[in-house]
Amino acid sequence: MDTHRNTSNDSAGPFAAGRPILIRQAHIVSMDDSIGDLTGDVLVKDGKIVEVAPSIEAGQATVIDGRHKVLIPGFVNTHIHLWQTVMKGCAGDWTFNDYLQHALGSAGKQFTAQDVYLSTFLGALEQMEAGVTTVFDWAHILNTPEHTDRAIDGLQDSGIRAVFGHGTPGDDVGKWYYQSTTPHLDDVVRIRKSRLSSDDDLVTLGLSMRGPDFATAEVTRADIELARSLGIMSSMHVAVGMYGDYTANVRALGKAGLLGPDINLTHGNRLADDEIAMAVDAGVSISVTPEVEMQMGHGLPITGRVLGAGGNIVLGTDVVSSVSADMFSQMRFAVQLERGLANSRLHEEGRMPERFTLNARDVLRSATIHGARALGLANRTGSVTPGKEADLTLLGWDQAHVQPRVDPVQAVVFHGSVTNVHTVMVRGQVQKFEYQSLNRPEQTLRDAEAAGARILEALALPKSAVI
Ligand SMILES: [Zn+2]
Repeated sequence: MDTHRNTSNDSAGPFAAGRPILIRQAHIVSMDDSIGDLTGDVLVKDGKIVEVAPSIEAGQATVIDGRHKVLIPGFVNTHIHLWQTVMKGCAGDWTFNDYLQHALGSAGKQFTAQDVYLSTFLGALEQMEAGVTTVFDWAHILNTPEHTDRAIDGLQDSGIRAVFGHGTPGDDVGKWYYQSTTPHLDDVVRIRKSRLSSDDDLVTLGLSMRGPDFATAEVTRADIELARSLGIMSSMHVAVGMYGDYTANVRALGKAGLLGPDINLTHGNRLADDEIAMAVDAGVSISVTPEVEMQMGHGLPITGRVLGAGGNIVLGTDVVSSVSADMFSQMRFAVQLERGLANSRLHEEGRMPERFTLNARDVLRSATIHGARALGLANRTGSVTPGKEADLTLLGWDQAHVQPRVDPVQAVVFHGSVTNVHTVMVRGQVQKFEYQSLNRPEQTLRDAEAAGARILEALALPKSAVI
């Protein structure tokens, strides 16, 4: 028996298994154009949204008071490395080179399989506490098959919805990155045939591939073909600052006919305009992680350039050891940075802005329904739509920092924060209620803290880097 697993949902609080839940009289921002926004009720039964209406009879349902609250679909975080959670707080002043040296070059060697479990589990809890119900977990810490299994354990035990992005080992950067000639680990085939064989489960499989900046063209093609043979999506970092060998690699992928809706490109700061257009036309999703991109030296987020090509961005938090792990921050960085860039261009023409190309509702879509589409999950999550699984985030709208109640979307995007997250449910399972996580085991938190301290100690960082 595995004594190191936490089982989520033992403590469901007032929410008995099998009993319907009625969220009553919330300001619903459905992110579904056929439903729109309304003040009303949402009935959840057997893990699904069964009705959205101005008023629904409660019957036997447990009632959650939605008054003075905003109900949105749970956030979809399309790019995060959950394994770095135990290192949070050490890397906010690191440059990209510091990150490569310490986090990828050194720390990755220190992670035991249990460390990966603790980090992944705790990171998933933090995501749900912050209103995120779905993540793409880009796991490049799969040093052994046991590391892989423990990462999946962490996701499954947490209760979050996740695409587990099966990646590389994290203990030999030279072998796995920098024009690597080593194909992706075929252990992913074992996972596809065993633990993550179903596309209907809460945790499904994806491929975190190195892509053409870090592996040869031949390896990249083989990796894409591997993912397609397994019927899973892929995500790759591309065109990041001066990092990696970026020479119009996305153009080459497009010309080779390898781009498609099953591919996610992350960052893309140095992409040429024709590459962005090529990706958008092929249905590729593009993840922008604005906070970390600005910190580390990736270059400017490409939000406006993607919109200009007729596409939509999706959002991610990325390196939780460096930056905030919540989607409120990423939405705000994305929208205001894009406005700043556009306004600055107008100034060069001696003009002031007359309107913005990106508004609050657009960026909330990027953080919810567009993200769900990017992960191939839009039939299950991403909007408050009857028939979808009940991934819902209820936000308090009565605290001073979000008052007065004028516009729920603007309140969420421009004034909201993790402190507003009142209730979170994933597939109808309540994970947070009345601002309290229902699944936060103290021993696991202490174990994770000890693991983080041990790993940072082994890195022998300059004291100034950890104090
Ligand atoms: Zn990343």
